[in-house]
Amino acid sequence: MAQPPNTDLLRSLPQIEEVLRDPQLKALEALMPRSVLADCAREAVDNERNAILTGSRSSVDAQAIADEACSCALANLRPSLRRVINATGVILHTNLGRSVLADEAVHAVEEVARGYSTLEYDTAALARGSRHDHVERLICAVTGAEAAIAVNNNAAAVMMVLVEFAAGREAIVSRGELVEIGGSFRVPDIMALSRAEMVEVGTTNKTHAADYARAVGPDTAMLLKVHPSNYRIVGFSESVPVHELRRIADSENAARHSEAGPASVNEVLVYEDQGSGSLIRLDCFGSYAEPTVAESLKAGCDLVSFSGDKLLGGPQAGIVVGSRRLIERLKKNPLARALRLDKMTLAALEATLRIYLDPERALRAIPTLRMLSEPSGAVQDRAENLARAITEAIPQGAATVDVVAETARAGGGSLPLCDIDSFAVRISFERGNAQGCETFLATSRRVPIIGRIKKDAVLLDARTLTHADIAEVAAALRAYFDSLDPDESSPQTHSMRIPGEGR
Ligand SMILES: *Cc1c(COP(=O)(O)O)cnc(C)c1O
Repeated sequence: MAQPPNTDLLRSLPQIEEVLRDPQLKALEALMPRSVLADCAREAVDNERNAILTGSRSSVDAQAIADEACSCALANLRPSLRRVINATGVILHTNLGRSVLADEAVHAVEEVARGYSTLEYDTAALARGSRHDHVERLICAVTGAEAAIAVNNNAAAVMMVLVEFAAGREAIVSRGELVEIGGSFRVPDIMALSRAEMVEVGTTNKTHAADYARAVGPDTAMLLKVHPSNYRIVGFSESVPVHELRRIADSENAARHSEAGPASVNEVLVYEDQGSGSLIRLDCFGSYAEPTVAESLKAGCDLVSFSGDKLLGGPQAGIVVGSRRLIERLKKNPLARALRLDKMTLAALEATLRIYLDPERALRAIPTLRMLSEPSGAVQDRAENLARAITEAIPQGAATVDVVAETARAGGGSLPLCDIDSFAVRISFERGNAQGCETFLATSRRVPIIGRIKKDAVLLDARTLTHADIAEVAAALRAYFDSLDPDESSPQTHSMRIPGEGR
């Protein structure tokens, strides 16, 4: 039975002004507006009031309220978006920022961010230039396309293509390709938003060329092919390759030509949303290797779009390639302005694309490609170095540290079926435990370390770690064991620390 609220307890809650008189909060007045501190105090008092109302408090602890307000205020001083050490073995980890930029890309960003730039200035003509020009030539050089445009991300690119070429008309898509990618990108939703009429063909597992051919009609604007990205239908399944879509579009376009004459023809386009944007064939993955953008174009796509921060290994961006005539139409669409890239992204994208001019170098200099293609022997060496550093750093007998064979993943919807051989450091606990350690590594450090737990051990995958991470990870593990209460082998409660201090 619900207890009536304890009115005496509610009355003893401190006033906001009283909470703000706490010396820790007073000290913070030098660092942020009092209104921010008052909001934190109010939140702490509200939380306490709710705890009383739900019956989970039998007394009011004014100091605890002040402490809570204080940690809320301190959170304002700590960067929310910060570096993490990725020990998950997932290379394109969407939650951890997908691609890691090459050094050259980072330097390019820094240079344009610090000063003025040629963003929309043509130094040869001493006149206004176009921001599209910085990357278009390079994209064409590495994909074989005639023209290209880059926007904010691939979801934006898909939206823009559908709006420009299929709004109010039909786009034919296989039922096996009506996918959801990362929760907020769903093909049917983006088609509805762009006002393209979705014409579904085939079945979930099998779609044949004849299904498309039968669906083509006078209102058809495009045959849309969507890369299924993070899932595959295996077994009794079939999808239609680009060259067959090309054949169907060509025969429809020929028919339209002979009826209406070339001038008034609104042709059927073949458009592939390729997702991962592989620019060079990753032979190390054999049959799992994604088709490259150049291959999709060669097979007959009029337009191909892909992400900048998946297999391409650059910044967040969405790139559309195709014929000059079609890309010029996209450049004139108002969405191209709304979705345009900023100078920092353009700088990173340009620098990343330039590395691809030498594909051999791209495999080494672009971190995403390096991590994907690094021989497993080198990963094993790094895992062994890490295991050694950890063993030396932690107290004797605190844990067993060894190296185990593991499976890494490309992530980001790329190469979903492909197991990448990897090696991880396994920490099995004599003192403390895996859950406690995982939490400590992720929450108590300025640079969180994200690993995973398997069978009561913490696993740190070396494929996504660098040599430079080793000392930091070893020091963090030592800090975890130091934090354990020697009697109880569980973490002591930490005293409040100003963020940024220590570790
Ligand atoms: C990842 C992906 C998208 C979305 O791309 P973003 O760059 O994340 O916006 C769209 N389509 C496919 C097929 C994808 O794999």
